[in-house]
Amino acid sequence: MDDLQLGIRDKRGHWRPNDALKGSPLLAFPWSLKRVLTWLPSYFLPWNALFFGLAAVSWLWLTPTKETLATFSWDWVALVFLRNAAIVLVVFGLLELRLYVLRRQANRFKYNPAFPADHRSSVFMFGHQAFDSIIRTFGTGVPIWTAYEVLYLWAWANGIGPWAVFSDNPIWLVIIALMIPVIHDLHFYLIHRLIHVPVLYKWIHSVHHNSVNPSPWSSLSMHPVEHLLYWSDSLVHLILPSHPLLAIFHLQLNGVGAVVGHIGFDRIETTQDKAFQTHAQAHYLHHKYFEVNYSDGLLPLDQWFGTWHDGTSEGDRLMKERFRQIKARRAAKHSSFPGHSE
Ligand SMILES: [Zn+2]
Ligand SMILES: [Zn+2]
Repeated sequence: MDDLQLGIRDKRGHWRPNDALKGSPLLAFPWSLKRVLTWLPSYFLPWNALFFGLAAVSWLWLTPTKETLATFSWDWVALVFLRNAAIVLVVFGLLELRLYVLRRQANRFKYNPAFPADHRSSVFMFGHQAFDSIIRTFGTGVPIWTAYEVLYLWAWANGIGPWAVFSDNPIWLVIIALMIPVIHDLHFYLIHRLIHVPVLYKWIHSVHHNSVNPSPWSSLSMHPVEHLLYWSDSLVHLILPSHPLLAIFHLQLNGVGAVVGHIGFDRIETTQDKAFQTHAQAHYLHHKYFEVNYSDGLLPLDQWFGTWHDGTSEGDRLMKERFRQIKARRAAKHSSFPGHSE
């Protein structure tokens, strides 16, 4: 496909779509039911439906029985870990293989024209972004995700927590299922702002930002403390009446779902003249510019707090203006403390 029909490539080869990036209309003002209904299919397709399908398969066929889960044993913990690791390997691995190893669509629709494997860097273990990310993903990411899941499954099997069943509480559980991506976006925004505080950024979050030009393996390339924080929103399943299927969906949405923002391509070609939108742009811009798009745009938090970047040159201008004001404020603060003149 000709990506220049849908976007432009600048002098440095960076591609951007013609259309400005829009957040969801869920809480956008002025609120419009029509806009929400028009947007709704993109809430489910393709990603949330895929992740819910994976969670349903995991729950129905790849989770030990209630009797087994009632007694803690490393045997079933290992099974849950292997199932989660396999899902990550297949989803991240296939995207990475097609787009970054085989490079099936070259750099068509790729925001950054470069491929990370062509540029080694000493910030990564073995100088290689993908190796570093794979080690962090399976070394601490999937184990911490699995630890949360083990806690919920064990608690459910032992009747600890306000667990519900679909036959008695269908409407409530459907509402919870629909709200999980919203809870995730709100929580991600809050912890993300927190780990951008300079001292925490340096200690924790800089690991994730080593991938300035992310690829699918960058998704869970995080410091273990970020992994712990990242999945902690799933603790709501111990507070609100929920179901283990929804807890699994929530954990997988965070885990496998992280890939969406790290695909690095705006569209994935399916045939010679067809491609589907990845929804990767908001988080790609976060990796590119650091101080924009802390959420993925489901809730308008970045718009409310002035950190939204819509990918256009006007978005660039607004961001630069905001950085200039922050710099000016800092300079004014320093000059009012003569003892701190450095
Ligand atoms: Zn990221
Ligand atoms: Zn960040």
